[in-house]
Amino acid sequence: MNTLNKKTVDDIVVKGKKVLVRCDFNVPLKNGVITDENRIVKALPTIKKLIADGGKVILCSHLGKPKGEPKPELSLAPVAERLAQHLGQPVVFAADDCVVGENARAAVEAMKDGDVVLLQNTRYRVEETKNGEAFSKELASLCEIYVNDAFGAAHRAHCSTVGVTEYVDTSVVGYLMGKELQYLGNAVENPVRPFVCILGGAKVADKLSVIENLLNKADTLIIGGGMAYTFITAQGHKVGDSLVDETKIDYCKEMLKRAEEKGVKILLPIDNVATKAFPDPIDAPIETKVFPSTLIEDGWMGLDIGPESAKMFADAVKSAKTVVWNGPMGVSENPSLANGTVTVAQALADTDAITIIGGGDSAAAVNNLGFGDKMSHISTGGGASLEFLEGKELPGVAAANDK
Ligand code: AMP
Repeated sequence: MNTLNKKTVDDIVVKGKKVLVRCDFNVPLKNGVITDENRIVKALPTIKKLIADGGKVILCSHLGKPKGEPKPELSLAPVAERLAQHLGQPVVFAADDCVVGENARAAVEAMKDGDVVLLQNTRYRVEETKNGEAFSKELASLCEIYVNDAFGAAHRAHCSTVGVTEYVDTSVVGYLMGKELQYLGNAVENPVRPFVCILGGAKVADKLSVIENLLNKADTLIIGGGMAYTFITAQGHKVGDSLVDETKIDYCKEMLKRAEEKGVKILLPIDNVATKAFPDPIDAPIETKVFPSTLIEDGWMGLDIGPESAKMFADAVKSAKTVVWNGPMGVSENPSLANGTVTVAQALADTDAITIIGGGDSAAAVNNLGFGDKMSHISTGGGASLEFLEGKELPGVAAANDK
């Protein structure tokens, strides 16, 4: 497991030891029912390994944004139930509103080797997101070893991802974290070339540093979705009412220039599916018209890449050996504006290249289309994978012991 030189669960002896594992159980819930348990399933290999090795496995995670208060609808109780079913053994849920309270202490005290306890939502505590000392110490007081397997939260320096490690001697990363770092790390630092990156989504501003970093790594950078229109404006074209960040036009000019100097190919849409208004509701039937990127008429807004662009992007994927994709090519929530995203997803499903999906909307699109198992890796962390692509060190990873 290549984990950028961090100790992993394979480097520790856990028999009879209390092991606190930070998981990412931030699953979507509807009326108390988990609607997608991918994150629970992805956490199982580390948990099963620690159980098999005779550790006393204490799990913790955040869920949603309770903002430092107990919110019953964001309790981790449904996760405990599903986990017990997946593991085929009881998972004791320590329902303390203060997370580390009487229930948690008693449950941990009573643990035998191989037992599993789940703590309450760490964000019930206001200190959690502030990386406060007291809560970090309380978490640390429960365990002898700490494992971080929550890639989706690794870009945040919180008590349960970073603070706790200051008070525990042994801090390592789990298998899921290792897999995320291996795929994303190899893609960015040591890609099998040609390396093609596809960026989409609404705002250029959100992905500025990603673009800048990838210009030093990728052979081809494909830009679609709403963020393409600031680039197309920077090329001197009229984009009608399409989404443009006026404050970033110069930045886009600079990126286009830099790409040329570095010999990195930037592919932008050459045609666009446009509508007269943004669909409301988002999946409402809507009239569309295709415009070339050289002229989108006033009164029309580009909401998907056009058929020629979709073909061009798919062809670029065909010639790649590594592809990283983050962000949809259009308003893919609407069937009339989803063709670009579907075509790109299909191209990734069809290639033998290493394909990595950077979480969020593109991960949802790939899964909804049934292409999930055709990808080499679908990241569990949208924000974390973006920060990784920016070249930033993730605090939750940095805090683990070096090998
Ligand atoms: P992001 O969170 O930046 O990945 O953006 C995802 C959102 O971008 C999705 O909800 C899409 O509907 C939206 N989006 C994609 N393309 C466009 C576009 N051309 N104009 C406006 N919004 C878009």
